[in-house]
Amino acid sequence: MSDRAKTIAKEVAKRRTFAIISHPDAGKTTITEKVLLHGHKLQKAGTVKGKKSGQHAKSDWMEMEKERGISVTTSVMQFPYGDALVNLLDTPGHEDFSEDTYRTLTAVDSCLMVIDSGKGVEERTIKLMEVTRLRDTPILTFMNKLDRDIRDPLELLDEVESVLNIMCAPITWPIGSGKSFKGVYHLLNDEVIFYKSGQGHRIQEVDVLQGLDNPDLDARLGPLADELRMQIELVKGASNTFDHELFLAGELTPVFFGTALGNFGVDHMLDGLVEWAPQPLARMTDSETEITATEPEFSGFVFKIQANMDPKHRDRVAFLRVVSGQYQKGMKLHQVRTGKDVRISDALTFLAGDREQVEEAYPGDIIGLHNHGTIQIGDTFTEGSQFKFAGIPNFAPELFRRIRLKDPLKQKQLLKGLVQLAEEGAVQVFRPLTNNDLLVGAVGVLQFDVVVHRLKTEYNVEAIYENVNVATARWVESNDAKKLDEFRRKAEMNLALDGGDNLTYIAPTMVNLNLAMERYPDITFHQTREH
Ligand code: GDP
Repeated sequence: MSDRAKTIAKEVAKRRTFAIISHPDAGKTTITEKVLLHGHKLQKAGTVKGKKSGQHAKSDWMEMEKERGISVTTSVMQFPYGDALVNLLDTPGHEDFSEDTYRTLTAVDSCLMVIDSGKGVEERTIKLMEVTRLRDTPILTFMNKLDRDIRDPLELLDEVESVLNIMCAPITWPIGSGKSFKGVYHLLNDEVIFYKSGQGHRIQEVDVLQGLDNPDLDARLGPLADELRMQIELVKGASNTFDHELFLAGELTPVFFGTALGNFGVDHMLDGLVEWAPQPLARMTDSETEITATEPEFSGFVFKIQANMDPKHRDRVAFLRVVSGQYQKGMKLHQVRTGKDVRISDALTFLAGDREQVEEAYPGDIIGLHNHGTIQIGDTFTEGSQFKFAGIPNFAPELFRRIRLKDPLKQKQLLKGLVQLAEEGAVQVFRPLTNNDLLVGAVGVLQFDVVVHRLKTEYNVEAIYENVNVATARWVESNDAKKLDEFRRKAEMNLALDGGDNLTYIAPTMVNLNLAMERYPDITFHQTREH
């Protein structure tokens, strides 16, 4: 093996790249803070992005963005944990929920699902889990907020299993909750780890007792000790044991209990992540070849574009996930779609808290490429090879508006702006076949504001929205050209072209969509579209 190949293999083995999926308020931000605290990147937890802690990043392209604390610098966090190097990709969650959230999930190798144990499985989590199923991403689960009264833990596991269709294997089990939360029992290590309240801001010394049958347990827990022994007996009988293969196949999730706010249990989860989650995985090309991480030639794909720099220069950052090889500062990269070679001397890397410019990046890492409008979502970069990565989709929008100009003479600029913003992945645009409307579709509601703001500042177009009666959209195709033609004629009223001129069915209601799917069995209705 060459020295370079050895370096790459070593760096690949160290890396774990994951994202958090959760419903708003389940504790994603808090757990991110604690995870970084364990990664020694934050001296004192409580400084992750501006949502509540008030520390805003320097981007100022938009007041709105500042208010909501969205920033490039918290998009990717890299930190060491044990012998591993962990990349945590932020998934925009509250009002800033968008297609980027979905696409970020295609750029990781595993996910952490955070659940509010008082509430159980919530709507946003269900949606995000659906997206992870596109690639059977391995899922770890953290049952959060044990310092509050929670629902029956067995019932919580049942709910995850039945609603999300994934087997649960508890790794830790809670001893009480709320005011009487005592800690957890670690089923694999046969240890009781005790909880102490009010220690959430720091890394605590671990207070642990070996062995469930240890008599010291009775001394510390009193009658609760026997109760715990009985419970664990029951849990072992009623739930799945951890199975690494099933975890890697996305069929079984290890479950940890704890409190992010109290910084308890987060380390158990991280230990599991580092031990079990896959190192950077291979990716498929559009010709179905697998590119493995340890291949010597650099390759990667763009999964997100963020405008955040100076609006006057339309400066954007394209986030590229490294799939194989090694990125070195100053290297020449080949952009497959355009056929152009670009020398990249100023790629951004994301060592949280570290200002230092990093010279190298490896599979699993994310680098930020400065982009003046020439990079699109889904773009593949190589060292010269001509393949393209598959699997970076557009997702069917869930929210729609009709967009209208204040000044009707600027129709051309409006369309140009919209198509460019759509290429960037900010929104999707649809032009119905039978009228001159312009429909904008998004996954998250903030995107509508972003688009109007950017149309004004970057394209000098003033636009407003009107409500429109659209429930969802589906990309349509058929192997049978005649059937597609017939469908085009009969369903014309509901058809539109998207930004890339792909035929789309626009459904006013879900019922309408289902009827159309029944009526036209030779037409396939896709919920995602590959770039
Ligand atoms: P996000 O919306 O998922 O990022 O959630 P946050 O991390 O912002 O948490 C939402 C709220 O729940 C905040 O007020 C947190 O302080 C609180 N919270 C998070 N984790 C815990 C926990 O373990 N226990 C309790 N009691 N509150 C928590």
